[in-house]
Amino acid sequence: MSDCLFCKIAEGEIPSNKVYEDEQCFAFYDIDPQAPTHFLVIPKGHIQSVAQVDGSNSAVVGHIFEVIAKVAAQLGLESYRVVSNIGEQAGQSVPHLHFHVLSGRDMTWPPG
Ligand code: 5GP
Ligand code: ZN
Repeated sequence: MSDCLFCKIAEGEIPSNKVYEDEQCFAFYDIDPQAPTHFLVIPKGHIQSVAQVDGSNSAVVGHIFEVIAKVAAQLGLESYRVVSNIGEQAGQSVPHLHFHVLSGRDMTWPPG
């Protein structure tokens, strides 16, 4: 999508600190980290949020979870949290599907 921040990051049009990339997805460190390790994994194709995942695009979500497991292992993360916010009330500020991966500190439950 032409006017989407994360589409532009995935295309390299806006610079980011890349963690991982393949033909389907892109991972990069969050600009405002909420934990010692905080990166985001996004599909390269534009999907607004988990609410727009259906049979036509869900394969990339499974792929993203494989990538999360692989990258977390490469970074030596033994415990981490994966979060996706859907909609403004839940805290979604960028309308392109993304999974936060947070690690390196104690975390509370339930999340705020
Ligand atoms: P959300 O609030 O939608 O769940 O998550 C969006 C995340 O994107 C936030 O944690 C925010 O810090 C991060 N973010 C917003 N703009 C940029 C940017 O230009 N570069 C990077 N690396 N992260 C960004
Ligand atoms: Zn997008």
